[in-house]
Amino acid sequence: MISEETARTTILEKVRPLPERTVSFSGALGCFSARDVGARLPLPTFDNSAMDGYAVVASSCTKGARLRVTGEQPAGRDKQLRVSPGEAVRIFTGAPIPQGADAIVMQEDVTRDGNEILINTDVEVGEFIRRRGCDLAEGQKILAAGERIGPATLALLASQSFAEVMIGGEVKAAILTTGDELVKPGGKLEAGQIYESNSSLLNALVQRCGAIVKSEEHCRDDRERLTEAIKRGIENNVLIISGGVSVGKHDLVKDALRELGAQIDIWRVAIKPGKPFLFGQLNQCAVFGLPGNPVSAFVTFLQFVRPAILKMMGSTNLDLPQLPAKLTVDLTNDSDRAHYIRGRLEHGRFTPVGHQESHALFGLSQSNALLRLAVSQSLKADEIVDVQIWDW
Ligand code: AMP
Ligand code: MG
Repeated sequence: MISEETARTTILEKVRPLPERTVSFSGALGCFSARDVGARLPLPTFDNSAMDGYAVVASSCTKGARLRVTGEQPAGRDKQLRVSPGEAVRIFTGAPIPQGADAIVMQEDVTRDGNEILINTDVEVGEFIRRRGCDLAEGQKILAAGERIGPATLALLASQSFAEVMIGGEVKAAILTTGDELVKPGGKLEAGQIYESNSSLLNALVQRCGAIVKSEEHCRDDRERLTEAIKRGIENNVLIISGGVSVGKHDLVKDALRELGAQIDIWRVAIKPGKPFLFGQLNQCAVFGLPGNPVSAFVTFLQFVRPAILKMMGSTNLDLPQLPAKLTVDLTNDSDRAHYIRGRLEHGRFTPVGHQESHALFGLSQSNALLRLAVSQSLKADEIVDVQIWDW
């Protein structure tokens, strides 16, 4: 049995980032930047109004003052207007500040009287003016190599008129489920059969990483069919096989991989659930064999497959997000493997949910976080622990 740390290190040594590519920036959502990117423009790009109101000279604007309105500056083309003491220019949110103005008075704070306004408030220099560069300076780093591009980063790139962005490689994955007892959802169940659910689980998890599921196949516990399905699967960067990696007579995956010439780097890891986990390489494909029990497949995906896919995609952060939480119950791990407890993190408190067994899919569906209990570790209720968030 291999330690979890060795398994993870070995996998991350073996998999390599895939070739970078340039994409139109709108196609970069969820991908990882391949370069540090600097701002082309400051933000705001010019001094502008934060409010609908009047541009004024603050020193001529004590409460009760009357000002003559000399023009109007909407958002858009700069009309190059000027404001002198005793004057005001009608202005709207996002409009460039007229020369001479050093404050904006909100329209709610004035009374309009024909061509004049009465100021109903005291006005300070700089009020409601958004200064050029106060948010972002020209040349400032807006994106680091390896950082994920989210919705707000896309908006930031658009604000800089980037049409394209260099991102990490595209990861294509194949999912292969195995097991004679499994029936595709929608089909008829005979006695002893169950519906196949791991392909849905793994498909969703792969997509959440930002990789592409190129094929999804189910295979009976039949050596020849399995070999053929594996040959098709390894056309991709990643092949994820569910089931058939344990020690039973019908667990054929390891031998089928060996026969095809695969290098098996890892088999059986000190992790609960998920001990029979397998990792190997065949041609250019990283092959992951996950135990068929849904929770084992889930936990081993998050601990071993996810970081490998993220590394291939060019990410620098391979870890699940972690948060401190107050434990609500006592927990002890008296097994010989690190135990990943499924639970719910709510309002800073972590509570285990459902049966902590590897088949218990319902409990898993109620959880949003994992707590790793090391071998022999005991924790008491109210202790603060770090939990891994997988549903955010
Ligand atoms: P295995 O790893 O093939 O020995 O399977 C372990 C357990 O997981 C068995 O109870 C299987 O029926 C179940 N199982 C295997 N594959 C799947 C799957 N794709 N969907 C749901 N359950 C599965
Ligand atoms: Mg099986």
